[in-house]
Amino acid sequence: MRSEFQRQTSELLKEAQLKAEAHGLHVTAMEWEWLLEFASGISKMERLLGSVAPTKADWESVFHSGLNRRLQGEPIQYILGSTEFYGRKFAVGPSVLIPRPETESLVEWAADIGNRQTAPRILDIGTGSGCIAVSLALEVPGSEVRAIDCSREALAVARSNASTLGASVDFERTDVLNDAIPDPPYSLIVSNPPYVPVEEMEEMQREVRDYEPHVALFAGRDPLLFYRKFAETLRTTLRSGGYIGMEIHAQFGPEVAKLFVDNGWRNVMVKQDLAGMDRFVVASVD
Ligand code: GLN
Repeated sequence: MRSEFQRQTSELLKEAQLKAEAHGLHVTAMEWEWLLEFASGISKMERLLGSVAPTKADWESVFHSGLNRRLQGEPIQYILGSTEFYGRKFAVGPSVLIPRPETESLVEWAADIGNRQTAPRILDIGTGSGCIAVSLALEVPGSEVRAIDCSREALAVARSNASTLGASVDFERTDVLNDAIPDPPYSLIVSNPPYVPVEEMEEMQREVRDYEPHVALFAGRDPLLFYRKFAETLRTTLRSGGYIGMEIHAQFGPEVAKLFVDNGWRNVMVKQDLAGMDRFVVASVD
């Protein structure tokens, strides 16, 4: 026999999906499951087993207010206030980009490099939520990790993530385009800089365009701005044998690689994400 809660929730999930379609939004079933779990405090597994009912009296109104925000186009991660990245839960808000699964491949590569280095010193440029820096601090034991960002609001989110997750990271407000890199040399530099060409703004998913911070997405008229700066200036902030790994726009692999080759970097490689798209460029110094 289905419980009252099971009956109610299957109606709610259907209603949510129909409303999303009517709003022209593509929302996955998983997103409604997350919202339901967030509102009711009951996991999908517990719900399907049917033995529990929510203890919070206002769970339906929490679900509905989340539903209404999602119908306006707000990403589910901002509504829930968190998302998973590299197996850990990170707080997110409108001042930081939502961590993406493809960025996990950059962390995997960097953790592997960091774990082969002696006394690794890692720098994350444009840390945002801190997802890369915090993951690396936890995945590379004994490393010293520093993370910079131009946004004070983003740094507050990143600091709180590091403290919740027990990661030791030094955060500092630095604008990489104008300020000096603090405390070099590093053995490894990582970055997921803004790289979306402004021309793509119109065709972007509205969840991204209308809600995520533009300072984290768009580099202005030159989408290679940050890579140019990195290729030209960061060689001297790395130790001998040090590496850089950056996330890139799928269309700019060869161009970003060329910038690094032209500026005398070694072992320049374009790497793919799990979907097979060009997504990273890595390089090293002698
Ligand atoms: N991957 C993000 C997007 O396509 C962009 C991230 C970035 O600019 N660094 O929306």
